[in-house]
Amino acid sequence: MITIKNLHKKFGDLEVLKGIDLEVKKGQAFVVIGPSGSGKTTFLRCLNILETPSAGVISIDEQSVDFAKPVPKKKVNAFRKQSAMVFQHYNLFPHMTALENVMEGPVTVQGQDKAAARKKAEQLLAKVGLGDKVNEYPFQLSGGQQQRVGIARALALEPKVMLFDEPTSALDPELVGEVLQVMKDLASEGMTMVVVTHEMRFAKGVADEVLFMDGGHIIERGKPEDIFGHPKEARTQQFLNLIQ
Ligand code: ATP
Repeated sequence: MITIKNLHKKFGDLEVLKGIDLEVKKGQAFVVIGPSGSGKTTFLRCLNILETPSAGVISIDEQSVDFAKPVPKKKVNAFRKQSAMVFQHYNLFPHMTALENVMEGPVTVQGQDKAAARKKAEQLLAKVGLGDKVNEYPFQLSGGQQQRVGIARALALEPKVMLFDEPTSALDPELVGEVLQVMKDLASEGMTMVVVTHEMRFAKGVADEVLFMDGGHIIERGKPEDIFGHPKEARTQQFLNLIQ
């Protein structure tokens, strides 16, 4: 479903992604781990072209973008619609209620009918356990609740792929579980997901595959029990020793 070939990203002279190749099948949950600065967030942002790769090809189903030459804006926009991102700092609109935040994309970006978008937003907020918070503003919600609004907002776009960029890193420890539970439910419903996280319990419990990145490369990938139980590469071992 997602195919990535020889993906490179440079910021000026700094090459952050040095040739990533990957295939993700429909319904799989991939978790990306690795040290700070290894390129995890940049990789995720390249997947929906929030960062423009310097080279490489990314395909989602039949849509394919080759970054060898400039990509027309129209093509970028069409490609972007296939995935939705959940950010570390939620990025909710502060002057909008939870419901308005979730309706915003479908109404303004996709031109959906307001009544239908409202109904769907209410359903999605109920799904993430916030049926009683639809009219609250972000400042009235806990971090965990705000992030669940962030997830509902991404789901409202009906993406084929959900991209999560360290979705629990900004949360107090006691609020992490409620967000991970929503993500776990999504994975078990068959959502295709790529998740950058430092939550190893989530990686162990939910991931179909774990990717270990370092220095702009995928150093090792495999099933969580293999990566965590019997890492093959010394660098993976060193990283896991430091964090476990
Ligand atoms: P962390 O776990 O700390 O979030 P990461 O593995 O997600 O790290 P990235 O955020 O992808 O790493 O950053 C990889 C490298 O790219 C870092 O050296 C970072 O400073 C650099 N970088 C990221 N974004 C930019 C940018 N917009 N301009 C210049 N350099 C950048």
